[in-house]
Amino acid sequence: MKNDEDTVPDKHTLSEAERTEPLDLDKIVSLCKRRGFIFQSSEIYGGLASTWDYGPMGVELKRNIKDAWWRAMVWGRDDMVGLDAAILMHPDVWRTSGHIDNFTDPLVECKACHQRFRADQLAGETCPNCGGEFTAPKKFNLMFKTFMGPLEDEADVVYLRPETAQGIFVNLNNVLTTTRRKIPFGIAQIGKAFRNEITTGGFIFRTREFEMMEIEYFVKPGDDEEWFQRWVQQARQWYIDLGVKDEKLRVRAHDPKELSHYSKATSDIEYSFPWGWGEIVGIANRTDFDLRAHSESSGESLTYFDDETQQHITPYVVEPSAGVDRAVMTFLVDAYTEEEAPSASGKIERRVLLKLHPALAPVKVSILPLSRNETLVPLAREVYDTVRRSGAVTGVVQYDDAQSIGRRYRRQDEIGTPLCVTVDFDSLEDNAVTIRERDSMAQVRVPIPDLPRRLGEKLGT
Ligand code: ATP
Repeated sequence: MKNDEDTVPDKHTLSEAERTEPLDLDKIVSLCKRRGFIFQSSEIYGGLASTWDYGPMGVELKRNIKDAWWRAMVWGRDDMVGLDAAILMHPDVWRTSGHIDNFTDPLVECKACHQRFRADQLAGETCPNCGGEFTAPKKFNLMFKTFMGPLEDEADVVYLRPETAQGIFVNLNNVLTTTRRKIPFGIAQIGKAFRNEITTGGFIFRTREFEMMEIEYFVKPGDDEEWFQRWVQQARQWYIDLGVKDEKLRVRAHDPKELSHYSKATSDIEYSFPWGWGEIVGIANRTDFDLRAHSESSGESLTYFDDETQQHITPYVVEPSAGVDRAVMTFLVDAYTEEEAPSASGKIERRVLLKLHPALAPVKVSILPLSRNETLVPLAREVYDTVRRSGAVTGVVQYDDAQSIGRRYRRQDEIGTPLCVTVDFDSLEDNAVTIRERDSMAQVRVPIPDLPRRLGEKLGT
């Protein structure tokens, strides 16, 4: 092959209908386990229900998602700053925010089999398990309780935060005085949240411990509705910019009776998963509910001095709130592709690949010596060290020499590695290697001294 000449094989992407089996949750769960994305928590003890651990690939994907969000929402804008508040907060925070009284779901129990359900998620009037009758719905508080210090006393109860937002509200004055920000401006935060959900499921879709990426955006009262619409668009656009198919996303406005206790209006961004639409981001107009309540309860005025009107005002708050784990699920499902394509030996084979955006891919580049032949290995390791240390690739560069080259391509496709570099026997003669692109399977020969630059250009990150 000559330098700089792409060779592109013929291949065919399978539609949903052409696949041997449709994409279901089991396929995603199995790929995640097989390739080291997500494992059942405490697996050797039989697992803990609906809790999951992110493996070597999953932790990179999740970190890349959070970094992409931070880059877009904080570094890429002139109206945002960040915060990282503690998970444990003064219990008065939750009393004042209304969470102790109102952060509840309606719980019903089957009188026959005693299984518990969330009443608002049930389709029928009787137990889906055994057909039994339900008890009347009770308000079930979703906050996890624990104790601070050595005494397990009512006075020592603290809660694991069910949202990161309150850490932002109670720090408003600290942020205003240290940054001299003017509204409109926002505070972003990424962190763990905990909700003792009545029913969990859908793999990492609904769990009791999860991570959130939240913004509280402070605006003048009256400007809130316009900013609300803007944030709905921006939250959706973030997914599209990272490659998610536009037609798989929709915006669903909440019915007034669905609204949380603090919200004037809420819209969800939903993704069309193969098993149905699911919420991935919620955008709420929280008005001045939280700031006003905390000002009254704490005695510290959480207001903003408006230079124009020379008055103290309580800002209104627009909150785009996204689940990190649901983002992981969305990107995995959206990227999952099956194709018929020629293998390394030219035979038509079915291949599974994750067409992840390069910014999200857990491994950016994999260096593959054609074999473990002792004359090839030193050059391949040198190429690996050169690329890793060049700074041209931000993220994981992998060296992979286990099994046949065909199997290694398959493994790299399944974890979504955008570029593979093959070091072959010709490399010893021409000091060049082959770059293979994941999606097109195009191969191009590149001189080793040009390799870091070419990889950087192709990744575009
Ligand atoms: P639902 O009505 O489905 O219980 P919610 O409307 O209470 O969810 P929000 O309070 O809007 O959810 O949470 C914001 C975001 O946090 C959601 O869009 C979702 O991405 C994520 N999220 C909420 N609850 C969970 C959970 N139990 N597991 C994983 N992610 C969650």
